[in-house]
Amino acid sequence: MTEHEFARLAAEMAALEARALRRRLTAIDEVLPGGRVRVGGQVLLNLSSNDYLGLAQDSRLVAAAQAAAEHWGVGAGASRLVTGHLALHEAVEAKLAEFKGTGAAVIFSTGYMTNLGVIAALVGPGDLVFGDRLNHASIYDGIKLSGAELRRFPHRDMDRLENLLKDAPAKRKRLIITDSVFSVDGDLAPLKDLVELKERYGALLMVDEAHATGVLGPRGAGLAEALGLTAGVDVHMGTFSKALGSLGGYVAGERRLIDYLHNKARAFIYSTALPPPVLGAIDKALDIVAKHPEKRHYLLDQAEIFRHELTMAGFDTLGSETQIIPVLAGDNPRTLDFAARLREEGLMAVALRPPTVPVGKARVRFSLSAAHSVQDLTRARETIVRVGRGMGLIL
Ligand SMILES: *Cc1c(COP(=O)(O)O)cnc(C)c1O
Repeated sequence: MTEHEFARLAAEMAALEARALRRRLTAIDEVLPGGRVRVGGQVLLNLSSNDYLGLAQDSRLVAAAQAAAEHWGVGAGASRLVTGHLALHEAVEAKLAEFKGTGAAVIFSTGYMTNLGVIAALVGPGDLVFGDRLNHASIYDGIKLSGAELRRFPHRDMDRLENLLKDAPAKRKRLIITDSVFSVDGDLAPLKDLVELKERYGALLMVDEAHATGVLGPRGAGLAEALGLTAGVDVHMGTFSKALGSLGGYVAGERRLIDYLHNKARAFIYSTALPPPVLGAIDKALDIVAKHPEKRHYLLDQAEIFRHELTMAGFDTLGSETQIIPVLAGDNPRTLDFAARLREEGLMAVALRPPTVPVGKARVRFSLSAAHSVQDLTRARETIVRVGRGMGLIL
């Protein structure tokens, strides 16, 4: 690159800096038990991870990943349709379909790629996609890639969605997409209403269960399972990268849908199959989720206490109903300051700023894990309240 080109990059970076929007990487020097990490000389309670069940460090997953690597090697060697489709992929997909209560399932390399792959396979130019304003970025990128027309509705606003569906030309294909647990606010999609609307207006319904897989539902399969709506959802999307502790995304649904994706989802077709150690970890995580409901019960019980205590202290937790608990702080500098002070007190939590959230509604987001002890969570809450009072965020 020429100096002139670097100067252009620098100008854009300076603009981010001026709005307190510049991001930086923080290296974790050591991952410790109990949902803690060491950064430099400081040990922090990690309240920013998506490892909701503490499985990323679980010795059973590590052993399963090692065993799979010993047996199959560390790479699949090709994409699935070429020679990368191992019996291990088939077995894990069968177990996943069983877990989700659908006829079939397909695994992609990441959740991000899953959304790109499935959305661009299902809709194209001339089709309509209806999406909640707070859907994950990968959903928006998938819609862009598909060339379909996006109709965004305000967060969880079913009246607006219904009006958009009413106004849509009858002949065009319609796809409604929603997160089930929203990653920004930790609140839930009104899934029962979405199923009713999709049926009334002849649309397809796709649900992204990234934050719900392994956490919600009697068997941990997600919000659709929790509400008894599995059959009402056409495309069940989710990930193994959060509560399940490793990496990968999935789509579960009818066999005919999955066969179609094998043929049409470019993110599936033109990318190397997930490597054996990751499949070993996924396989073991699915077993643990099935056998140990007490992990997700503990997580959700602790989340309820955490949210209740922060709300009682005067914080706005923005409608959270899950293990993701945001606390409203306001403008960007104040929010960064809040996160920095918590960090000094041993708590690691991310500041979420625009464009992720609306201007003036920046927040610090806490995500809980079953790896956190009651004692650590109690201390964390007390610290958050004390720091919040010190800054005048609450009275
Ligand atoms: C994290 C996330 C993804 C992306 O999944 P990765 O496996 O991290 O690529 C997709 N959708 C939602 C709602 C997410 O939170």
